[in-house]
Amino acid sequence: MIADVGGIVIGVVVAAVIYVVVLWLALAFYVMRDAYRRSSSPTFHMTARVLGLVPPFLGPLVYLVLRPPRTLEEQRALALEEQALFEPPTDGVVSRPCPTCGREIEQEFIVCPYCRTQFARRCVNCDRSLRLGWALCPYCATEVGAPPLTRTAR
Ligand SMILES: [Zn+2]
Ligand SMILES: [Zn+2]
Repeated sequence: MIADVGGIVIGVVVAAVIYVVVLWLALAFYVMRDAYRRSSSPTFHMTARVLGLVPPFLGPLVYLVLRPPRTLEEQRALALEEQALFEPPTDGVVSRPCPTCGREIEQEFIVCPYCRTQFARRCVNCDRSLRLGWALCPYCATEVGAPPLTRTAR
C-alpha cells in the first residue's frame, strides 16, 4: 500500500515537473521567436534567449518589459506609410522642379502648390497646359487671349 501511494506521488511530481519544464521551454521559444520578429540585432537575440530561460518564468516577464514596442514588419509598414505621406507620388507622373521654389511638381501643373507661382494656364478648349505668354493654343489653335494674369486661368 505505502509503495503504491509513493508511486502515485512520484508520478504526480514527475507529471508536474514535465508540465513546468514544457511550459518553461515553450515560453523560452516564444520569447526567442518574438525577439527575431522585433529586432535584427544579434545582441538582442542573445539577451532574449537567456531571458527566456533564466530566471524561469520571470525572464519572459522581464523580456515583455524590455522588448521593442513594434515588430519589424510593423516598423516597415509605418515607414512606408510615412514615405507615402511626405513624398509625392512619382511613379508614372512626369515631374520637374518649380522654377520659383525648386520643389518637385508634376509636369502638368499650371500653378505651384507650394509657392503659388503661376507659370502656365489651361487651354479653354482642349484643356492642355499652356505657357503664360502664348496667345493661342498650339495643340488646337484656339485663341486663348493675351493677358493671362488679369483673368482667372481655368
Ligand atoms: Zn514653387
Ligand atoms: Zn487647346
